[in-house]
Amino acid sequence: AKDAGRDRVVVFDAEHRTGARQRFEVHAALRGAVERGEISVAYQPIVDLGTHRVTGLEALARWNRGGAPVSPSVFIPMAEDLGLIEHLGNQVARRATEDVQRWRAELYPDLVVSVNLSVRQLAVPGSVRALARLLDESGLAPTALRVEVTESALMADVAAGVERLDQLRELGVRIALDDFGTGYSSLALLRDLPVDVIKIDRSFAQRLPDETAMVAFIVDLARTIGATTVVEGVETPEQLAVLAPLGCDAVQGFLLGRPTSADAVPALLADGPAW
Ligand code: C2E
Ligand code: CA
Ligand code: CA
Ligand code: CA
Repeated sequence: AKDAGRDRVVVFDAEHRTGARQRFEVHAALRGAVERGEISVAYQPIVDLGTHRVTGLEALARWNRGGAPVSPSVFIPMAEDLGLIEHLGNQVARRATEDVQRWRAELYPDLVVSVNLSVRQLAVPGSVRALARLLDESGLAPTALRVEVTESALMADVAAGVERLDQLRELGVRIALDDFGTGYSSLALLRDLPVDVIKIDRSFAQRLPDETAMVAFIVDLARTIGATTVVEGVETPEQLAVLAPLGCDAVQGFLLGRPTSADAVPALLADGPAW
């Protein structure tokens, strides 16, 4: 069978062959990393616009392939295609719930943590049970956990998505709509979904002050449905200055802090106001 596979490859040119081989190797490496529990978690601060303090952290998956970091925008879709995303997602959520429970106990009792849930995870009924178990095992209060889902993830199967999110909400978990404003279905989704937090996509922050009216509109919309807002991708003091009077609740971005390892989080929480 191995030889047959090799024969089939012969029809491609050398470049294709190298590409296929590299793809195969990276897939095998990712599978190994997930199986050995080598996916780590970085935390990016979410800063409250009223108090200027870190009140939340977003957990972001990290993979070091032989010392070289691979971007999540590369390995997350790969993990979805390879059927590894549930396992990977559960590893991230386990680490995040344990870390944040510890930091809440030792440093900041109101800290909340966001984990990203992919389309594929949302599609399987077991995902809610898995999260419920992780909450149980870590002792983390369900209200301290936020699940971030994208509109596009929900569009794949709205009914299943809504059902799953309703179940999570019944547990007390909060729902955040990620990358808001990049899809085409926002209003219909907002009507049907249990949404606690709207995360305004970083493309809006990047186009400030041009997008000021648009951000103000989304903030009002969020308020109408009883959701709070986080503006993503804030990189400059100028962007922050434009956002502050708009009534958004929180900001996230390189200006406030890049994703960092768990070791660096206690210092982050001990710091005073971010500005
Ligand atoms: P996301 O959920 O929208 O996460 C925010 C991304 O924006 C992160 O990229 C973060 O590093 C980046 N970011 C934060 N502030 C700034 C800024 O000021 N400027 C710019 N240019 N970028 C900023 P990262 O860590 O590379 O993750 C990329 C995407 O991969 C995430 O986008 C999310 O969709 C996915 N991802 C990451 N970790 C996980 C995970 O554990 N599970 C799932 N399903 N997806 C994940
Ligand atoms: Ca996110
Ligand atoms: Ca986002
Ligand atoms: Ca994104």
